[in-house]
Amino acid sequence: KLSERLSTVATFITEGAVFADIGSDHAYLPCYVCLYDSKAHAIAGEVKEGPFKSAIETVNKYDLSSRVQVRLGDGLHVIQDREVNLLVVAGMGGTLIRSILEEGKDRLCGVQRIIAQPNVNERNVRKWLYENNYTITCEEILEENGHIYEIIVADRNAARSPYKMDLLQKQLLFGPLLLEHKTETFIKKWKNELSKRIRVIDEMKKAREQNQNKISEFEKELSWVQEVLK
Ligand code: SAM
Repeated sequence: KLSERLSTVATFITEGAVFADIGSDHAYLPCYVCLYDSKAHAIAGEVKEGPFKSAIETVNKYDLSSRVQVRLGDGLHVIQDREVNLLVVAGMGGTLIRSILEEGKDRLCGVQRIIAQPNVNERNVRKWLYENNYTITCEEILEENGHIYEIIVADRNAARSPYKMDLLQKQLLFGPLLLEHKTETFIKKWKNELSKRIRVIDEMKKAREQNQNKISEFEKELSWVQEVLK
């Protein structure tokens, strides 16, 4: 059974899509989609040997090798220009997703939709999408096994731009659409984030105090040394 996180990602994959799942691990997502949609085709990309082999095993197990190709390689290097029209990058940090998109920019000409599921640092992904003319058309937030996950769906040059310049930085942090409909899970996530931020600020203030004490100590000694040298 596919996780709720990945089956939610799957709901955004258009029917009959030819898509790539980068960092596919066991290739659960592409196999699931191709089992339910007989017109879909997928490329499962993996940079590590172990997960690459697991992906091949899953594809063989479901007899999908004619529709799911498993390729070993870094990020978008496993796809050729205009080979896919949809891209999924899920289950990694936002910074890594952003760098995969940035480094593979030249392979994205034919990609109409990007579905990203960053585990942390979602803002980095949204910023990249914003700067590269992908409009966020849907966002989901869900909790599974004690983790809260965000799913970001973006379409190339979609008409609706959810960004307002005065709100941009906040929209990148919270998600422009998640911010419009604050669900219970959204509130839960940001209550956690609030406590984390309070803790970080407290620690920074403590460090600042300790630094200040050290500076005073050194200044006192400095004045003694100056006195002795007079
Ligand atoms: N996408 C699956 C999911 O959401 O459940 C698997 C997520 S798994 C935590 C992340 C996978 O991404 C790992 O198997 C890792 O080897 C792969 N990965 C990390 N960096 C990558 C890169 N630059 N190119 C391709 N795969 C990468």
